[in-house]
Parts: sequence; structure tokens; C-alpha cells
Amino acid sequence: MTQNLDRLNALPLRDNLRGKSPYGAPQLDVAVALNTNENTHPVPEDVHAAIVREVTEAARTLNRYPDREFTALREELARYLGHGLGAEHLWAANGSNEILQQLLQAFGGPGRSLLTFVPTYSMYPLLASGTDTTFIAGERAAGFGLSARSAAEQVRRHGPDVVFLCSPNNPTGTALDADVVTAVYEAGEEFNTVVVVDEAYAEFSHTGTPSALGLLEGRPRLVVSRTMSKAFALAGARLGYFAAAPEVADAVRLVRLPYHLSAVTQATALAALRHSGSLLANVEDIKVQRDRIVDELTRLGLEPAESDSNFVFFGGMEDSRAVWEALLADGVLVRDVGIPGHLRVTAGTEEETTAFLTAMERIVSAG
Ligand SMILES: *Cc1c(COP(=O)(O)O)cnc(C)c1O
Repeated sequence: MTQNLDRLNALPLRDNLRGKSPYGAPQLDVAVALNTNENTHPVPEDVHAAIVREVTEAARTLNRYPDREFTALREELARYLGHGLGAEHLWAANGSNEILQQLLQAFGGPGRSLLTFVPTYSMYPLLASGTDTTFIAGERAAGFGLSARSAAEQVRRHGPDVVFLCSPNNPTGTALDADVVTAVYEAGEEFNTVVVVDEAYAEFSHTGTPSALGLLEGRPRLVVSRTMSKAFALAGARLGYFAAAPEVADAVRLVRLPYHLSAVTQATALAALRHSGSLLANVEDIKVQRDRIVDELTRLGLEPAESDSNFVFFGGMEDSRAVWEALLADGVLVRDVGIPGHLRVTAGTEEETTAFLTAMERIVSAG
């Protein structure tokens, strides 16, 4: 390892990448993996059959480049989102991580800055260094909340080129109030700031939680990012997308690689979208397990945060690292997000959730 590091350091690496670590959520072989917020429900039978059918068809013409504009997929995504959106408002890429990267390639870069409010998604600083965008770690209140007033004040103070708002926020799980998005957008007017709301977990929100999709009209620098990795159980397929004014899609067309969305990816995503019924039924199941985790952890004397996502962030542990290790010894892998006294657990199937809660109960009563 040290030798590799020495060799890496001898390369003419860009200065802003020196000493950085790559994204590295552990991919351990455990019975119950609840650490990366995947949808742990298997792909439903009808969705699987449709994907196999569409991909089989797409395989016949893999000698040709795919539809560079993925028009059918953008139409289907617009239909799924509603809110009066059309294909011209939609853009897709290989996961919402590539979406965010393309947005930084177009609107960030050397001499420009990205403001986010920590703790938030751990990929944001990595995407910033990858595009040589200055990363500004904005602040949240003590309980990790973010008010419209505080967020707007920080935008006015830093004058960022891009803001990423994660709602529901990873790792804390809570959705932002709509007035935070509008206040940040308004505060960014004088700097021409692009405001991106990362709604990777939107489908898991409590009924009545508004999406920033409803705020797009009349806000040309607002972008709402979504993914098929979580609610649609397609983390392995790599499909993320955004909705915004058509000119935002034109801006990322300047930085995307030609034919970046493979014909296989397009076929897979289309098949899943056309069978969203059974996928979204699983989302309802997962929300039940999520609420069960919040209730049970509360009963055990722990402090779970209100969650609008498919995971629960919880505190109230003296030694969260010891709890993480004890869970792993029981075959349950959760996420240590590096916030002392806190852990994050993904809501799994009923069986997985039971395994987690049983282990927690044992650990808490032993400790
Ligand atoms: C999981 C996650 C994503 C999804 O990334 P993909 O590249 O679409 O798999 C995006 N944003 C946040 C906050 C996430 O937690």
C-alpha cells in the first residue's frame, strides 16, 4: 500500500487531488447489508421479465451507437414526474452522481465554488475536487436542521456558483421545507447561482412532503436531481436524471461524453419505468419498515431522526463504533458516517429489519 502511495505521489497528479481518498463505502460480504441505502427488495418478477425482454431486443443492434438523445427515455421520465414537464426538461446520465458531476463540469470548475450544508452526501466534496471546484462546507443547526434564513444568509455570504441541497438529506434522512429552496434560490439571484436539489430519496417521503419539482416553473437556474438507484431498485443499472429548464439540459450537452447512456441502460430504465407500479408498491413496504425502525429505536432509548427516506440516522450511543462492530459480528452491516455517537441504517425487507432490531435490542441491553 505505502509503495502504491509513493508511486501515486510520483505521478503528475493535479494538486487538488493529492492526499484525497476515493469514495469507499465498504462492500463486505455479510448476511444483512444495510449500509448503502440500496433498495434491498429484489427486482419484482414483472419488472425483471420486462427488462430481459427490452435488453434482449436492444442487444440485436449493439453494433450501432445508442440514441444519443435518449428521447424515449426522457419522454417516459417526464411522464413519471408529472408537474407538466416534457422531454425537453429532462436529462439522464449514469447515476445521479454523473448528473451532479456534469452539472459541476458545466457550472463549476476552476475559480468557481460549490456550497453545501454539512453533514450531507459524502460524494459532494469528491465531485467538487474531481472538477476542481472549490468546496464550501456550509453549516446546519445543532440538530442538523437547516432554516431558510440561515441557508440564505450563507448563500449571500459566500456567493457560490452552485449550491447542492440534499432533500431528504443523506445521512440525516429529513426533507427540507420548500421555503429553504426558494430562499436559497432568491439569495443566489445576485450571483447567478445554480441551485440543485438532490431528491435521490423523494419517493420515500411522508405523504404531503412537497418536491422541488413544483418550484421549477419560472426558476431557470433550479435543477431537481433524481435517481432510479433507490425507489426503483436499480442501483446496479446506473440511471440518474434531472428536471430543469431546457437550457440547463443544453448546458450539460456541452460536457457529456458522446453516447454516454448505453442502449442497454436505456432499455433497462424504460422497462422499469413502464412497470413502476410493482416497484412503487415495494417503496410503501420499505416506508413501513423505516417507520418501524424509528419506533423501535425510540423504544430502546436511542434517538432516531425523523426520516423521509429509506434509512434512519440515529444517535444516543456513547460508543457508536462499538455498536457498529457488535452489529457486524451479528452479520448486520450499517453505516458509520463519521459523526460521533451516530449511525445510519437502511430500511430493508421485513426480515432484514427484524435482524437489525433484534441485534440492536441485544446490544443495548448488554451495554
Ligand atoms: C444514493 C444517493 C444518490 C444516488 O446516486 P446514483 O449515482 O444515482 O446511484 C444521489 N444522492 C444521494 C444523496 C444519495 O444518497
